[in-house]
Amino acid sequence: MGYLIRNARAIFSSQQSSATDMRLQGNRITALGRDLAPIEGERVIDASGCVVWPGLVNTHHHLAQSILKGVPQGLNQRLGEWLGSVPYRFWPKITPELMYHAARLGLYEMLRSGVTTCADHHYLYHRDTSPEVEAAVWQAADELGIRLALCRGCATEAGSHKGMARHAIVPESLELALDRLESSRRRYHQPAGDAMRRLVVAPTSLIHSSNPRSLDALADYARRHGLRRHSHLLEVSFDETQAQEKYGMSAIDYADARGWLGEDVWFAHLVKSDPHAIDRLAQTGTGIAHCPTSNCRLGSGVAPVPDMARAGVPIGLGVDGSASSESGSMLQEMNLAWLIHRALGGPEATTLESVLSWGSAGGARILGLDDVGELVVGKAADLVLYDIDQPRFAGVHYPLMAPLLCAEPATVKYGFINGEPVTVDGRVAGLDEGDLTRQVQRSVERLLGSA
Ligand SMILES: [Zn+2]
Repeated sequence: MGYLIRNARAIFSSQQSSATDMRLQGNRITALGRDLAPIEGERVIDASGCVVWPGLVNTHHHLAQSILKGVPQGLNQRLGEWLGSVPYRFWPKITPELMYHAARLGLYEMLRSGVTTCADHHYLYHRDTSPEVEAAVWQAADELGIRLALCRGCATEAGSHKGMARHAIVPESLELALDRLESSRRRYHQPAGDAMRRLVVAPTSLIHSSNPRSLDALADYARRHGLRRHSHLLEVSFDETQAQEKYGMSAIDYADARGWLGEDVWFAHLVKSDPHAIDRLAQTGTGIAHCPTSNCRLGSGVAPVPDMARAGVPIGLGVDGSASSESGSMLQEMNLAWLIHRALGGPEATTLESVLSWGSAGGARILGLDDVGELVVGKAADLVLYDIDQPRFAGVHYPLMAPLLCAEPATVKYGFINGEPVTVDGRVAGLDEGDLTRQVQRSVERLLGSA
């Protein structure tokens, strides 16, 4: 069965900016236009009062942190200390069941803000990790019908990583990490441009908890199997000072020397990028997951994204984990990205259209999901309908951008992923909000009881 979306206030499409209607057949967009007539067997969705956007692509999350919001000990700490006080204090206690509820909550928040693809940097691995913790993330995404790029974190030494060392977490050996990666790849990874499941090789930190031998082996493994690569880099200046101290070169030159720059690589944050780093990122096609809320919340700074965009660095947006960006909303990230670069660089620093492109097509490009991220005939049917028929949007003269301009609260009335309805009449399909709330509350109690 197909769907005909009719009478939208506006549709964000580079192919046909005046379109009001869209046809979905199978998992694809098959028509865009005005006054499209229904065909037999097709379900008609009345989109009057709605604007239609491509589904948003979140390029950096830590779903496990969805049950670690606003932990008092970390509220006024910088990144290094906060890692020890919040995520690394709790993560060895996260059971498969707690992970499942955290992932469900995080993905629910994604869907209700308009996300259709989520890259989760999942790094809960140590020597004695149960594979069921990772399986819980895949399962939650599967049940909610969202595209998942699971960025498989790893640390092969505690090194200078403040969270690892403080909690005496026993790292995986390189061989164990590679073995586990291989079994995940065989079980879950899909290479297609419209894959629902992608596996990404994603050591948690290039500088602090991976040695050169590990980085070489992980890069080699990823290239051999056509997997993309991801990590944190230059979130704060500690990466730079440690790279100089350990390797006698800048963090970006160290990444370069180890083969960790390229079109198949993207990094979260890159706040402390200098002009040389921006040049190397642009020349190699290495992308950024820009996470402005988390960078503000932890007082890390603001990544020079307009300079990166001018240089040609591929740009995506990310919510980062909810332990440092309690909202878990891509609308929040887009609104902040639009504003904060103007505060620093003037009103010409960003436009609404470029920010929405970073949050959709830009993210899809970074993840290598070539068939998603744009409302164009032939692309995968990943889209969201925001209900702007509400008082706070009624005075807006540019309705297409109302959810970005006015930000949260906004309502996704319908959401489609791969042609399937995942949000219907403002509710995430297959999920009871009351049950979710109680399960998350219980999970937090259990976590505090065991910490
Ligand atoms: Zn992160």
